[in-house]
Amino acid sequence: MRLSIIIPTYNERDNLEELAERLRSALGEAKYELVIVDDGSPDGTGKLAEELARRLGNVKVMHRPGKCGLASAVVDGLMVAEGDVVAVMDADLQHPPEILPRMIEEIVKGADLVVASRYVKGGGVEGWSQWRRLVSRVATLMARLSIPRARWVRDPLSGFFAFKRSVVEGLELNPKGFKILLEIIAKGNFRKVVETPYTFQIRRRGESKLKTSEYLNYVAHLNKLQKETIKKALSNLWCTAKPT
Ligand code: UDP
Ligand code: MG
Repeated sequence: MRLSIIIPTYNERDNLEELAERLRSALGEAKYELVIVDDGSPDGTGKLAEELARRLGNVKVMHRPGKCGLASAVVDGLMVAEGDVVAVMDADLQHPPEILPRMIEEIVKGADLVVASRYVKGGGVEGWSQWRRLVSRVATLMARLSIPRARWVRDPLSGFFAFKRSVVEGLELNPKGFKILLEIIAKGNFRKVVETPYTFQIRRRGESKLKTSEYLNYVAHLNKLQKETIKKALSNLWCTAKPT
């Protein structure tokens, strides 16, 4: 098994080195590559990523012209990722790298998709205001109400997850907004999905890029996904109902 870890970055210069170091100690002897997808960070994250690539040898760097968004960074990262297992995580250490070995173990045991989850027993969030907690819960509920497969997990909006590459092979992923996992849950080819609890950490360095406009983006994304899901279900129904 070979693992590719896709890490989208925008202005994460002060986090990237620690992330690479903590991943190295967490993953030990495992074979893995880092795919850093940088959105033309003005703080020099892209340059630092190149330096890490020279120093560590298992790092690929993609440079994008500007802040093109999280979901499309993952789709772009998939184009160069060579692993048969792919993990996606943020660069800002809010997703603790120490959870990754447990997630990979679940894949080895037979899961197709593993979601690091804030909303199963043992998981949580650190330092969020009541307002952000509420927004996250409402957004999660909306996803679970409108996309039937999102009910298979408690945290379909997590940004930290791992999957067998076959789950996304041949799929047309819509690279809009922040919520690429929801897209994979709605469209992916998987049977077994497992959630691993984790606590979303406080961001210690750098700033969040989540703007209010992302909430609107999310509602539009959800609406589109819902329509696509209904269309697919209807077409399946039509096909199975046809006389042979
Ligand atoms: N990010 C990115 N491009 C963007 C916005 C965000 O690559 O246009 C990266 C960012 O550097 C981080 C991850 O996506 O690694 C999650 O972003 P952020 O921490 O701002 O979101 P939050 O954790 O506040 O929801
Ligand atoms: Mg963050």
